[in-house]
Amino acid sequence: MRTLDPNKALVIFSGGQDSSIALAWALDRFPAVETLGFDYGQRHAVELGARSIVRTELLNAFPHWAVKLGPDTLCDLAGFGRLSESAMTSLGEIAEAEDGLPNTFVPGRNLAFLVFAGALAYRCGAGVLVGGMCETDYSGYPDCREAALTAQIHALSLGMDADFRFEAPLMHMTKAQSWSLAEKLGGRRLVEIINEHSHTCYRGVRATRHPWGYGCGDCPACALREKGWAEYRQGLSET
Ligand code: ZN
Repeated sequence: MRTLDPNKALVIFSGGQDSSIALAWALDRFPAVETLGFDYGQRHAVELGARSIVRTELLNAFPHWAVKLGPDTLCDLAGFGRLSESAMTSLGEIAEAEDGLPNTFVPGRNLAFLVFAGALAYRCGAGVLVGGMCETDYSGYPDCREAALTAQIHALSLGMDADFRFEAPLMHMTKAQSWSLAEKLGGRRLVEIINEHSHTCYRGVRATRHPWGYGCGDCPACALREKGWAEYRQGLSET
């Protein structure tokens, strides 16, 4: 069996709110952290652009994390995006499809991400895969659920003969709780960085600034982000 380093983490990092918080969580916990992102032909490149900005902001604001943060890799999965074309990768309208799933669903996206993350982790010796997946406030994507991800990690460990560990620190948190986690990890400074620079909006809108960040304000991703921010702020005012 391939021996992997249990102190080295590879974070699947999209530049969105959840994976930015997951990255901060990993930097707080592990001595060595690398990041991996995927270009699968998302309908806009804004989120991918947010990746390097969030990384740079974290490096500048938190020098004790900067020394732990290793290289970033961007993996080209354009072929996967074309196979599983959805509103996320084409210019179709965002709506609910006949099967009840949002038509932004890219079938098996997180499962595919884990395969590629496993391949990179195997090569760089990282024993821990970290992701921002969440099944509490999730957008209806079945591959965000813990059972699916746990099964995939089990398959990877068998198929690569390597002992991977998977950490999804936000899995059972609401969006408000994940903001509280960010505050615990890096104070208001971290909350501000993630609110300002992480990107969530499906439509890629960066022109309009809301209290909860940038976005169109009415796609499902913006709605979820707005609700989580409001609940987090409400919680602060009550304490
Ligand atoms: Zn939006």
